[in-house]
Amino acid sequence: MSSQQTEEPPAKKTIVIVRYGELSLKSKGVRDRYEQILKNNIRQMLDYHGVSYSQIRRDFGRIFIHSSDPAAAEKAALVFGVVSVSPAHTCRTEPDAIAALCAELGAGMITDGEKFAVRARRSGNHSFTSNEIARRCGDAIWNKLTETGKSPAVDLTAPDKEIFVEVRQTDSYVYSETIKGPGGFPTGTQGKMVVLLSGGIDSPVAAWLMMKRGVEIIPVFFDNEQYAGPIVAEKAIENAKLLFSWTPGRKQKIYRIKNSEYMEKMMQTTGSKNICLMCKRFMFRIAGAVMEKEHASGIITGSSLGQVASQTAENMLSETYGLSLPLYHPLLAFDKQEIIDIAQKIGTFRISIRSDGGKECLAVPEKPEVKAALTAAVSEEKKMTFNIDEMVQKTVENAEIIEMKT
Ligand code: ATP
Ligand code: MG
Repeated sequence: MSSQQTEEPPAKKTIVIVRYGELSLKSKGVRDRYEQILKNNIRQMLDYHGVSYSQIRRDFGRIFIHSSDPAAAEKAALVFGVVSVSPAHTCRTEPDAIAALCAELGAGMITDGEKFAVRARRSGNHSFTSNEIARRCGDAIWNKLTETGKSPAVDLTAPDKEIFVEVRQTDSYVYSETIKGPGGFPTGTQGKMVVLLSGGIDSPVAAWLMMKRGVEIIPVFFDNEQYAGPIVAEKAIENAKLLFSWTPGRKQKIYRIKNSEYMEKMMQTTGSKNICLMCKRFMFRIAGAVMEKEHASGIITGSSLGQVASQTAENMLSETYGLSLPLYHPLLAFDKQEIIDIAQKIGTFRISIRSDGGKECLAVPEKPEVKAALTAAVSEEKKMTFNIDEMVQKTVENAEIIEMKT
């Protein structure tokens, strides 16, 4: 190839390479379906954020977004199921064209004296190897840098800058940046689950981790009314909306449950020490009823073993003893700091820590039970002067259902 051809600006367009992990391990039929869902979810995320693009296409284990909008990669990296994304330049699979793209990218990002490396990978049938194309691209970058008066150096072990080349059968891609995605599975591939969502730090993180695995959530929030300040309800609803923004483009709903009638009647027979135990058991019963009503397949909580009084293993067992509910506690083995780190990353932390200075729950006794007997909650229910199943039914019927499209 003549030097004149290399100097011509290469035909390029901007593209985003989207990589996904676990779903490529599925059988062909399942993988096809999951990839189609992932592609739709990416489209919905880009639309939600007003990102412009001309095409989103699947191609052998990758999704490509044709877009020159600088926000395209960043927003695609928010989609569940996405492992990583790279904003890239693309050209036909033609060694001179690839080398010219590398030279242009390299000249823009490698400063004088910096060490660089080209990493190339290849799939398909070509007349050159990936090592050959890497060397050719390295030479092109070198020449371009020296032409512009810089002194380049190649270092394949500890470079300051790396340029990646991905050669495919007909098209090739050149990039320098990779943004990590959340991983997991595309939303809508693992059904729906109810999440017991409070205004606190933990339950939004628990919900997000299950969303990451492909679950659509139905938040159920207990508005303890006279026992909680208004800020608690506000925070729970804001947390729910923020979680929904991770899975845009679909109809979503929040159940706001008023449980003061139950609380009042329960407290007439339950000793103060067991109030939290019985409050939580009622939450589980309600979550179970909402789960059935919504044809969902599980209940998520933010419980973390031993974190507070209500979350000892003994209490957790007693609270649900005999209820036979599909409960998921994704944070059970997480430390508080680990939970906070995720809350900050996903955006719920700043909502959860807001406080109006008051106590979050006035019903919590001075000394709550921390080592409940196996049948403690069952015995407390037997003492109650009302029918618990009817109370559950009535409470769910009276729930405020907040519907929205994100
Ligand atoms: P969180 O930070 O999620 O509020 P927590 O550390 O305050 O949790 P608890 O108050 O014992 O712990 O709650 C344990 C779990 O019970 C919560 O993570 C949540 O799933 C559920 N829960 C607690 N309060 C409510 C509520 N008002 N509405 C819905 N679910 C709740
Ligand atoms: Mg709480």
